[in-house]
Amino acid sequence: MRSDFEARLRAVSLRVTRPRLAVLAALREHPHVDAEAMTTLVRAGDPTVSRQTVYDVLHALTDAGLVRRIQPAGATARYESRVADNHHHVVCRSCGAIADVDCAVGHAPCLTASDNHGFVVDEAEVVYWGSCPDCAADRSPQ
Ligand SMILES: [Zn+2]
Ligand SMILES: [Zn+2]
Repeated sequence: MRSDFEARLRAVSLRVTRPRLAVLAALREHPHVDAEAMTTLVRAGDPTVSRQTVYDVLHALTDAGLVRRIQPAGATARYESRVADNHHHVVCRSCGAIADVDCAVGHAPCLTASDNHGFVVDEAEVVYWGSCPDCAADRSPQ
C-alpha cells in the first residue's frame, strides 16, 4: 500500500515525504474529511507533523491531481483520493455527512448537457442534497 502511494507521488513528480504518505493513507481510510479532521488524523499517527504541513500537503496533492477537493455550498472543503472517475456526492443537509455516488451513465459521465450553450464541457459536478439515514431517523416521529 505504501509503495502504491510512493508510486503515485513519483508519477506526478512530487517528492515522497512522510506527511504526504500519511495524508494519502488517511484519505484512503477516511474519504471526504476536511482539513481539520485530516490534521487530527495525521497528528494521531505522527505528532511531529504540524497543522501547516498538513494544509500544505493537501494543497500540493490537490494541485498535482492526486487529491480532489470538493466544496458543497455552505460546507467546509473536503478532500478525497478517489480522483479518476468524476463521481458525484450525496450530502446531508443536517450533519454534513458525504457519500460517493457513481455516475448514473457509464463512461464520460454526465457530460452530455441538455444544452451546452456552445461551451466545451469537460467536467460535471453533481451534488445530491438530503438527509442521511441517521438524521432522517432522528427526525421521523417515534
Ligand atoms: Zn446527517
Ligand atoms: Zn467522493
